Amino acid sequence: LLRVSGLRKSFGEHVVLDDLDLEVPEHGCVVLIGASGSGKSTLLRAIDLLEDVDDGSIELRGVDVADPWVDADAARARMGMVFQAYNLFGHMSVLDNVTLAPRLVHGRDRAEAEDAAVEMLTRVGLADKIRAYPDQLSGGQQQRAAIARALVNDPELLLLDEVTSALDPELVGEVLELLAELRREGMTMLIATHEMAFARDVADQVCFLHEGRVHESGTPAQVLGDPQETRTREFLARLH
Ligand code: ATP
Ligand code: MG
Repeated sequence: LLRVSGLRKSFGEHVVLDDLDLEVPEHGCVVLIGASGSGKSTLLRAIDLLEDVDDGSIELRGVDVADPWVDADAARARMGMVFQAYNLFGHMSVLDNVTLAPRLVHGRDRAEAEDAAVEMLTRVGLADKIRAYPDQLSGGQQQRAAIARALVNDPELLLLDEVTSALDPELVGEVLELLAELRREGMTMLIATHEMAFARDVADQVCFLHEGRVHESGTPAQVLGDPQETRTREFLARLH
């Protein structure tokens, strides 16, 4: 579904993505791990076309969406992205947050967009919070609303960047459980996380990023349980 090839990105002199290759098969769940600054967020932002890249391709079903001739908005509409925090617009109700993109980007009328939003919010367990404002929700509820917003347009690929790291520990579980459920339903996902237990549970493939490249990848058992590379071992050792 997604094939990233030879991706390069520098901020000034600083090379952040260095000839990076990565594939996410349809219905696959690929988890990115790596030290702070290893390029996980930059990679996700580049895939979502929020960040220009210097070189390389980002193929979504065989079409290079990084090509300047490709309609970036149309390509972005095929992906859903959820960030670490500050996801929701504070001055809008949960319902309006979730219906904004369907109405603006996809041109759906209000009633249709609201039906889809209510269905999605119900799925993530927020049926009773539709009229609430973000500051009336817990962090976990806000993240579930943000996930509902990313899902409401039926994306082909869901990109998740540290969606639990801003949450209080007792709220992490409910968000991870929702992601595990999406995984079981076959949603194609690319996830950056520091939660190794979650990576072990949901990933088909774990990619360890180091200095802007996929330094080691494989099944969770391989990469987390029996890492072959020194850098991977050092990274995992530091977490304990
Ligand atoms: P973390 O685990 O802390 O989220 P990360 O793996 O997501 O880290 P990135 O956010 O992708 O790392 O950052 C990679 C590198 O790129 C860092 O050294 C960061 O300082 C740099 N960087 C990211 N965004 C910018 C920017 N807009 N301008 C300059 N440098 C940036
Ligand atoms: Mg990051």
